Amino acid sequence: MKTITQHYVDGAFVESHGREVMDIVNPSTGKVIGRVTLGDEEDTRRAIAAAKRALATYGRSTKEERAKILRRLHEAVAARIDDLTAAMVEEYGGTSTFSRIIIEAGAKVFLSAEKALQELPLTRNLGKTTVTLEPAGVCGLITPWNANSFFLCAKLASALAAGCTAVHKPSELSSLQTQVWLECIHEAKLPKGLCNVVTGRGNVVGAELVRNPDVAKISFTGSVAVGKSIMRDGAATMKRVTLELGGKSPNILLDDADLKTAIPNALMIAFLNSGQACAAGTRLLVPKRRLDEVKQAIKDTIAAFPTGDPADSKTAVGPMVSRTQYERVQSYIRKGIEEGAEVLAGGEGHPQGLEDGFFVKPTVFVNVRNDMTIAREEIFGPVLCVIAYDDDEDAIRIANDTDFGLHAFVSGADIQRARRVASRILAGRIAINGMLDDQQAPFGGFKHSGVGREFGTYGIEAFLEARAILE
Ligand code: NAD
Repeated sequence: MKTITQHYVDGAFVESHGREVMDIVNPSTGKVIGRVTLGDEEDTRRAIAAAKRALATYGRSTKEERAKILRRLHEAVAARIDDLTAAMVEEYGGTSTFSRIIIEAGAKVFLSAEKALQELPLTRNLGKTTVTLEPAGVCGLITPWNANSFFLCAKLASALAAGCTAVHKPSELSSLQTQVWLECIHEAKLPKGLCNVVTGRGNVVGAELVRNPDVAKISFTGSVAVGKSIMRDGAATMKRVTLELGGKSPNILLDDADLKTAIPNALMIAFLNSGQACAAGTRLLVPKRRLDEVKQAIKDTIAAFPTGDPADSKTAVGPMVSRTQYERVQSYIRKGIEEGAEVLAGGEGHPQGLEDGFFVKPTVFVNVRNDMTIAREEIFGPVLCVIAYDDDEDAIRIANDTDFGLHAFVSGADIQRARRVASRILAGRIAINGMLDDQQAPFGGFKHSGVGREFGTYGIEAFLEARAILE
């Protein structure tokens, strides 16, 4: 049984002032594996005060000083990849393959931010006017449970590259990963107060960050509902906000796509991170004339995505993070059936033999219309909707007929045509022929998928304010 009682404030591990104790549950077994003491408003205010003190010096740091700190953080996280991966598998149920990839990406993001910082001019001359890009101030970094360590790394890397100091509010469901993360920050020997971490509830620690006048900016990754409340409540203190929210990403299969690669890719993109991924391609748009072929290809391929013990390297889909999330996914599967969609694979209930944990069956619906609930709302589980279209124009129309605009995918043999289609999609990122990543490329959403961008120079600029001096 693990017990976590500390936060990280002003360069030291400190006992929680907040007294609420929460169980840590292993989602693969449903069993309690530990307890975490959650922080309160007082813990948060102490962390903000430490970050404010550190800002006085760090806010005037040079690029070289910031680069050194980013490199130290990279080394500290890279040294703990095994431990961070193990914690993500145990407390979140992330598959070991996905967990390792995303944790390695988290270590790498510090070097990507360093490269972006070197490329970003922080001083610009416009005639006789000098414009400098100044750190926004103390930042509140709020992250969700689905890739908590990666988001912590990504947000901190951009904030520190910009000369800001930070208070993290990780997901309260990620306390084992956060504990390892605290040890990484400590090992990196950062100046005191640069990075403070308080684990606690959103409506307690998160709300204090949003309300506190000493916090200049909130960078948030999470649900649309909480994103909206942060924008609304942050207005009182004129918070700058970056909001990375949900998605319902289309994956357009063009009629020249090779199904031998496009269908395994489509299932991988849909079931990414056990379906608990904001970028997951959960609406597969298929040309009507190839629908039967696609259905057969899905039936033939789905066995290659086994559900089970996330620690097993062969497992492709692990459990949902919590019982609540399990119930939420089940309710969407029921809703899809009620609304007349046809279950091609999976369906309601636990997979056989996996009744103890929060496992769901990877599910594919066909005969889905884009106005059905399962095609409109983010399910955040391994549920794929197959929607038929007439021609490329129809596919683009359906792809854009959504409140979201985080990610999209286009699969096809003719790359020029795929690019033309991609250029018409209203989404922050569009990947052609597969799941691709580039840590210098901006990530973020159109419409309800968010406000602002993360990563590369775009991510650093989000933590800067322009100051012009005129002569
Ligand atoms: P959530 O919005 O419930 O919680 C996210 C974080 O916000 C948690 O740390 C939570 O404690 C905190 N929070 C909750 N209420 C708050 C409040 N009132 N004030 C301040 N903070 C508060 O989301 P979740 O369930 O943890 O994560 C799933 C959601 O995250 C999905 O909707 C998913 O699409 C989204 N997500 C988006 C991205 C992206 O980059 N766009 C990435 C991953 C997840």
